[in-house]
Amino acid sequence: MQILTTVAGMRAAARQARASGKSLGLIPTMGALHEGHASLLRAAAQKCGAVAASIFVNPTQFGPSEDFSRYPRSLERDCEMLRREGADFLFAPLPEEIYPKGFSTYVTVEGLSERLDGRSRPGHFRGVTTVVAKLFDIVQPDFAFFGQKDAAQHAVIRQMTRDLNLPVNVMVCPIVREPDGLAMSSRNAYLSPSDRRSAAILSQCLQEIERTHRQGERASSKLISAGYQILQREPAVRLDYLEIVDPDTLLAKDTSSGQALVAIAAFVGNTRLIDNLLLL
Ligand code: AMP
Repeated sequence: MQILTTVAGMRAAARQARASGKSLGLIPTMGALHEGHASLLRAAAQKCGAVAASIFVNPTQFGPSEDFSRYPRSLERDCEMLRREGADFLFAPLPEEIYPKGFSTYVTVEGLSERLDGRSRPGHFRGVTTVVAKLFDIVQPDFAFFGQKDAAQHAVIRQMTRDLNLPVNVMVCPIVREPDGLAMSSRNAYLSPSDRRSAAILSQCLQEIERTHRQGERASSKLISAGYQILQREPAVRLDYLEIVDPDTLLAKDTSSGQALVAIAAFVGNTRLIDNLLLL
């Protein structure tokens, strides 16, 4: 695996891979890799002749009081996983390589960026779309792989890709979960043992909503109430949002008919976790 830390180096390596006739897959990450990331690497390896992963804890997507400085970083262990999963390239730039002095251009998807996590974390999606647009431009992948875990994120990225006619196929891979249902996340490392036990309530809440939907209930208000009842069992868990939305526009839906995304964000201790499921 080739490790690149400069834009010029990554650009040249990706160009060479494409010139050899290989299709190129990109997996943007913030590192502290886990099985969720590994599933994206495997999907990319299956689809593409060459695979590039990026590890970049992107400062512009963190709010001033968020966890940028203490976000888990484990580059050596990450490299082991990347090699094991057959990645060809790792792009791991420093912040100043991506945002040199005087940087002042941002990409914003209007509307979508203010919904769900965008409402709770102002500026978050602006940071995400800016860095992903830059990564798409540097690597010029044929395919880019994202996790359903961040459903609002991939909706915003799909919209950006369409609006800017970026020649990248955005692929979405299923959520990988722990045995008790907790969606895998680099931030799970923050959880104390008791918070870790409480955190399972997020996926239990979603499962209850799915069960109620399967029994025929379609009113979003009723489905959400069923979820609230489960959440009440863990008073330590502080809800940020629980919503039923259209998976493309992220606008709230009154009913779960057609495609509907149930999305939840909650604080467990000081750790903000997200999860979701699609009601079909
Ligand atoms: P992150 O490093 O958290 O920015 O995530 C990088 C990519 O991995 C994003 O596209 C995430 O949606 C995806 N991802 C994170 N956790 C999971 C998971 N549990 N299952 C599937 N994909 C995931």
